[in-house]
Amino acid sequence: MLFGTIAHWRAQLQSGAISPTELVEELDNSIAARDPQIHAYLSRNKEAALQAATCADLSLPLGGIPLAIKDNICVQGEPTRCASKMLENFVSPYDATAVTRLRAAGAIPFGRTNMDEFAMGSAGENSAFGPTHNPADPDRVPGGSSSGSAAAVAGGMAIAALGSDTGGSIRQPASHCGIVGLKPTYGRVSRYGLVAFASSLDQIGPLTQDVADAATLLNVLCGHDAKDSTSSPQPTEDFCAGLGRDIRGLRIGLPKEYLSSGNAPEVRAALEQSICCLTELGAEVTEISLPHTEAVVSAYYIIACAEASSNLARFDGIRYGHRAEGNMSLDALYSKSREAGFGAEVKRRIILGTYVLSGGYYDAYYAKAQKVRALVAQDFTRAFEQVDLILGPVAPTPAPKLHDTQLTPLQVYLSDIYTIPANLAGLPGISLPCPQAGCLPTGIQLLAPPFAETRLLQAAHALECALKG
Ligand code: GLN
Repeated sequence: MLFGTIAHWRAQLQSGAISPTELVEELDNSIAARDPQIHAYLSRNKEAALQAATCADLSLPLGGIPLAIKDNICVQGEPTRCASKMLENFVSPYDATAVTRLRAAGAIPFGRTNMDEFAMGSAGENSAFGPTHNPADPDRVPGGSSSGSAAAVAGGMAIAALGSDTGGSIRQPASHCGIVGLKPTYGRVSRYGLVAFASSLDQIGPLTQDVADAATLLNVLCGHDAKDSTSSPQPTEDFCAGLGRDIRGLRIGLPKEYLSSGNAPEVRAALEQSICCLTELGAEVTEISLPHTEAVVSAYYIIACAEASSNLARFDGIRYGHRAEGNMSLDALYSKSREAGFGAEVKRRIILGTYVLSGGYYDAYYAKAQKVRALVAQDFTRAFEQVDLILGPVAPTPAPKLHDTQLTPLQVYLSDIYTIPANLAGLPGISLPCPQAGCLPTGIQLLAPPFAETRLLQAAHALECALKG
C-alpha cells in the first residue's frame, strides 16, 4: 500500500528509471485514486509541482522528491488554511523556513494535508473541511492533529510529509497509521512560517515510512534560523551517522507510570515486544520513575490554551482572517468574524486560555502549570542521569472509531498523556510502528535528552530492523 521511501525514489531517479515529472504524475495518480476515500489532502497544485520537477537537480540530497506539507506550514503561492474557515481564502505569500530548506535540498512541495483546525485535536475530526480516514481501517480516525500527513504516507499517497507537534501531533497519528513520526528537540527546526498554536511547545518534524527517511529529512530541516528567535544555535549533525550501528550496552528506561492498566492490550503487547527486541540487541532495559506524569495533561492544556488564546487573537477579521459582512461596530465585527471563522474546539481552547490568564486566576492556573512544567522537565533530567533513552507507549489505545460520540473532550485530552511530556520538557521523541498480526497499527515511543537525536535515531533504527524481523 505504501508509495516507496525517499531512499527508493532517490535511487530510481538517479538511475534514470523514472524522471522527476513522471514521479509527480505517478504520485498524483495515486492520490486521485485513493484520496476520495481517505481525504488526506486539502489541496494540491500539480502544475507548480510539475514545473519544479522539470528543473529538479538530482545531485541534491532530496533532488526531485515530492513531499506533502501540513496545512499550517506556509508554502508560497499555496493555500495555507490550517483546516479552518478562518483562513479559507489565505494564500501564503512566502515559504516557511522548513519549506525553504526542503526546496534548497531539491525537494518539491506537493499537496497541503488535512489536519485538526489550527492543530488542536487528536483525531483529525476537527478539520473545518471534513475528517480524514485511517488507511488501515477507513471507519477509524488516523489520529491528529497531523491527520492528513500521516494518512497520506500510510495510504500510499505521499513519499513522506511534514507535520507539527505541540502535544503529540506528529507521533500519535504516526502511531495510529503505522508509520514513523519524529518530533525534534524544541528549537531544532525553525518555526518561521508555521502558524503558531502554542509557541513554547510547537515543533515541526517529518512523518515517514521508515527511520532512515526521518534521519534524511532531519538533516535537511535542522539548523539555526535568525527569523525564529527560539531556533537553537546548536550545531547540526549527520543524523544518519548512527544508523546501522549496534546498541549494545545502551541503557533504556521504562517509566513505571507509563505501564498503566488503562493501556489497551495491543499497546501492552507492543511494549513487551519492543522490550524483548531491545534486550536481544544487547540494550539494558530498566524501570525508572517520572513522578509528575499524573499532572502533565492538566499542565499542558492550561499552557497550550493560554498560548493559543494569545496567538489566535490576530485572527479578528481586520488584521487576519475571515471577515464578517455588513456594517457594524468594531466589537460586533470582531465577534461575528470569530464566531463564523473558528470551529467549536478552537473556541473552547480560546475561552479556556483566556480564563486561565485572567486576573485572579493567573496564579491559580497558569503560574501553577508553569511550575508543574518545570517539575516535569526535572523528572527527565534526573531520569537521563540513569538511562540513555526512555521507552513508552505513544497513546493508551489504537485509533478510535470515527465520530465516537461517547468520548468527552476530557477523555480525548487524557489520551495525550504519553506524548505531552516531550513537549513540556522540549525533548526529541520518535514513534515507531510495532506491527502485530491482525491488530490495528500501534506504535511505541522512544524519548531522548535534548539534542540527542543521533542516538535516538540509532536506537530507533536498530529497533525497527528487529521488529520487522
Ligand atoms: N492532541 C493535542 C492537542 O489537541 C496535541 C496537538 C498538537 O500536537 N498540535 O492539543
